[in-house]
Amino acid sequence: ASKNKELLEQQTKRESNARSYPRRIPIAINEAEGIFVKDADGKSYYDCLAGAGTLALGHNHPVVIEALEKVIYDKRPLHTLDLTTPVKEGFIDEVFASLPKEFASRAKIQFCGPTGGDAIEAAIKLVKTATGRRSILSFQGGYHGATHGTMALSGNLAPKEKVNGLMPDVHFLPYPYEYRCPFGVGGEECHKISSRYIENVLDDPESGILPPAGMIFEAVQGEGGSIPAPVDWMKEMRRITKERQIPLIIDEVQTGIGRTGKLFAFEHADIIPDVIVLSKAIGGSLPLSVVIYDQDLDVWSPGAHIGTFRGNQMAMATGAATLKFIKEHKLDEHAEKMGKKLQDFIKELNAPEIGDVRGRGLMIGAEIVDPYLSPSKTGSYPANPQLASRIQRECFDRGLILEVGGRHGSVVRFLPPLIVTERQLDDICSIFKEAVK
Ligand code: PMP
Repeated sequence: ASKNKELLEQQTKRESNARSYPRRIPIAINEAEGIFVKDADGKSYYDCLAGAGTLALGHNHPVVIEALEKVIYDKRPLHTLDLTTPVKEGFIDEVFASLPKEFASRAKIQFCGPTGGDAIEAAIKLVKTATGRRSILSFQGGYHGATHGTMALSGNLAPKEKVNGLMPDVHFLPYPYEYRCPFGVGGEECHKISSRYIENVLDDPESGILPPAGMIFEAVQGEGGSIPAPVDWMKEMRRITKERQIPLIIDEVQTGIGRTGKLFAFEHADIIPDVIVLSKAIGGSLPLSVVIYDQDLDVWSPGAHIGTFRGNQMAMATGAATLKFIKEHKLDEHAEKMGKKLQDFIKELNAPEIGDVRGRGLMIGAEIVDPYLSPSKTGSYPANPQLASRIQRECFDRGLILEVGGRHGSVVRFLPPLIVTERQLDDICSIFKEAVK
């Protein structure tokens, strides 16, 4: 009898219909180490989902386990609300030492509780409080969470349509998604027009956009389909917001600490945001989230953003150990190199069904299209979500776990742990090639 099947049947019977991943990744995970997970029947898989980008060092990395053991065997407190501890101050030291100096010297940190979504909520409350304004500029295709506030900021309409009364006053702007440019022009022109358009709507009262409390975007849209914001576009967003005193929030929940080839994805554009939001990898496999922002915004009062679980000492210990390991082993540079290799490999497959290959570092997406339908003016073909799911399934059957995302559900996404070796990547590439074939 299959233990895997038995556990899945129990899950299906008892867990909510809202469960998502098990539908496409039908396994019960029994063991995990590095880039591998093993299901309950002993079958091994390459895990290129890695907790949706959470597991920078893969599963159960020795430095993560060691950090956990230290907290436990030294009998350190496990939970302290937001009272401080040596572990916490050590975590903050590590985070501040990782930020660009110009940002770190003016930075304040707020612990949140402890999901990415809660930290985004905090960031939005922060800029609203600091500016006294109410509207937020967000981007089509963005993803920021699943609470009432963060869902309102996210592009994905399907889950929003069924929930009444989301946070009001969110204005959606076009993201520079070059393969399907919202302005119908190709390449560079796309992001140039996008920034000109944004500047124009902000300055024209007839656009109805009141002076916004903040602008928020992902430097690489993750759930939206691994879409990197062009560097020049990010520089323009920084200029446009700075000139109009609009705080700029960069959501680094998925991109943060090495994933994109730099410790923080905003560093690709050499800009300093006003606020960054970190979660996922920053907890070193455990739940943790923080908002880091310019001290000038720190005008909110005690208790303005509270929550019981802002003090997970184990997550701070594993998070600090993870960050330290990433820097010591230059895993950001490694991510850059491996990501390039992966992108080159997928491009060289020359499969007509792969319309676009893109990403930054180890946040890569292959957009699956229907090349037999007619292309748009700029040469992009209609999205093909059925084929994307099929490719995911074929990879899964061959022992490779990948995510499918994107606005049309047509982007096969690679988010391997940053510790992936060149040999493992070769293996992943050949499985993908077979699956596509
Ligand atoms: N922002 C981004 C960019 C994310 O990718 C996610 C999670 N996928 C979130 C916010 C929300 O984080 P959480 O699921 O921990 O609430």
